[in-house]
Amino acid sequence: MYDKYSMKAEEFISDEEIKSTLQFAEENKNNLKLVDSILEKAKQRKGLSHRDASVLLACEDEEKIKEMYALAEQIKKDFYGNRIVMFAPLYLSNYCVNGCVYCPYHLKNKHIARKKLTQEEIVHEVTALQDMGHKRLAIESGEDPVNNPIEYILESIKTIYSIKHKNGAIRRVNVNIAATTVENYRKLHEAGIGTYILFQETYHKESYEKLHPTGPKHNYAYHTEAMDRAMEGGIDDVGLGVLFGLELYKYEFAGLLMHAEHLEAVHGVGPHTISVPRIKRADDIDPSAFDNGIDDDTFAKICACIRLAVPYTGMIISTRESKAVREKVIRLGVSQISGGSKTSVGGYYEPEPEDERSEQFDVSDNRTLDEVVHWLMDIGYIPSFCTACYREGRTGDRFMSLCKSGQIQNCCHPNALMTLKEYLIDYASPETRKVGEALIQRELSNIPKEKVRKIAEDNLVKIEQGIRDFRF
Ligand code: SAM
Repeated sequence: MYDKYSMKAEEFISDEEIKSTLQFAEENKNNLKLVDSILEKAKQRKGLSHRDASVLLACEDEEKIKEMYALAEQIKKDFYGNRIVMFAPLYLSNYCVNGCVYCPYHLKNKHIARKKLTQEEIVHEVTALQDMGHKRLAIESGEDPVNNPIEYILESIKTIYSIKHKNGAIRRVNVNIAATTVENYRKLHEAGIGTYILFQETYHKESYEKLHPTGPKHNYAYHTEAMDRAMEGGIDDVGLGVLFGLELYKYEFAGLLMHAEHLEAVHGVGPHTISVPRIKRADDIDPSAFDNGIDDDTFAKICACIRLAVPYTGMIISTRESKAVREKVIRLGVSQISGGSKTSVGGYYEPEPEDERSEQFDVSDNRTLDEVVHWLMDIGYIPSFCTACYREGRTGDRFMSLCKSGQIQNCCHPNALMTLKEYLIDYASPETRKVGEALIQRELSNIPKEKVRKIAEDNLVKIEQGIRDFRF
C-alpha cells in the first residue's frame, strides 16, 4: 500500500501507485482543462505532486508544452537566477564487486584497467583540478569493501580538503558512493562532505533486480532506503537521480518525485539535487542494448517537468550530454553542470595510456573548463564556483528557506560574482577574463540590497589584491 511516510521502500515507492499514476496521466493527457489547472498550480511555485507532474509529462499538446517550458524557465530564473554552479567528478577507484549490467565497472569485466588512486595520486589529480579552477568536486567510486572501504574514502576526503596549491582549494566535496550504513553516513558527515549523491538507477523493483543481478547493490530496499539512512546519519543534503534508458521514463519520473515527496514528508526537507543521467557507451556497454532510451526532446521535457514539480531542488547535468543538449536544457531549470570532466580513475594529472583505460563512460562534452565558462557567459549565464552554503551551515531546510524567501539574490548572486572573479584572475584565458570582467560589472547592479552590493564591490577589489575566499 502506498504511504509516503513509510520507511519501507516498497511502500513509499509503490509500484501500484506508480501504475495508477501513469494510467491517470495517460487518460488525462489531452484534458487541457486539467493541464491548465496544473500549470496554474505550478505558477504558485510550491511544486506539484507526482500525479499532477505526470499529467504534464504525458501531455503532447504543442502549445501546452511551450507553456511548460516558459514556466520552467521563469521558475529557474526566480529561484536560481542566471547562475550555474560548476563542479568536476573525481573517480577514486573503479574496483567494484557489483554486477550492474549497464556499467563497465561490473565485476565480470576482466579487461578494463582496474585502478585505485593512492593518496599521492589524489594530490596530483586535485592539484590539476585546482589548476583548472575547480572548487567543488563529486567523488566517485565503485563498491568494494576490501579495496574501497569507508576508511579509504574518508582518508581521501581529508587529503582533498588539505591540498592548497597556489590560490586553489577544494571547498566542497560531494560524495557519490554506494549505499551504506547509518554509521558510515555519520562518518561522511563528520568528514565535512557537501551532498551525498546516490542514483536510484531505476525505481522499478523487478527491473532493478535484473539490472543488478549480483553483489550488494542487488538489494532494492537497501539501496532505495539509503537516503533515509544518510539523513539519520546527519547528512542534510542528498542528491537523487535515475539512469534514464533503463526503464520507461514515465515510470522513473513518477518514482523520482515520490522519493522526493517521501524525503520531504519524513525528514521535512526534499532532495538538494536531482541528476538526470542517460546511459552512455562505455568499455563493454552498448547503450542500444537497452530498450528505453529517450530522445533529446523527451529529455528536455523531463527536465522542464522536474523544474515545475520541485522548484527548490537543484538540477545537475553532467558531461554525458553534448554541448547542444546542455544548451537546450540549461534554461529549463538546470542549476549545476560539470566541466572539463574525466570519468577515468586518474587522467586529470596526465592522460591515461591507450592500453590502460579506466573510464566509466564516454563523455559527450569534451571542452575545457575555460571553454565551458566562456560559453556559459556567452549564452547569458554566470558560472559560479560558490561553495558557501554548507560552509555557512545553510544545509537542508535552512538552504530551502533561503531559496523560498527569495533572499538568494542577496547571497548567491554576490557569491557567484566573487568566485567568478577568483576564477578569472587565477585561471581564465585572456578572452574569458575579458568577457567575465564585463559580466561582473553588469551583474553587480542585480544585487538588490545596496549594503550587500557595496561589500561585494569592496571584496572584488580585495580579490584583485590577492585575498581569496569571501562569502555571504
Ligand atoms: N558505484 C556507486 C553506486 O553504486 O551508486 C556510484 C558511483 S557510479 C561511479 C555513478 C553513476 O554512474 C551510477 O550511479 C550510474 O547511474 C552511472 N553510470 C554507470 N554506468 C553508466 C553508463 N554506461 N552511462 C552513463 N552513466 C552510467
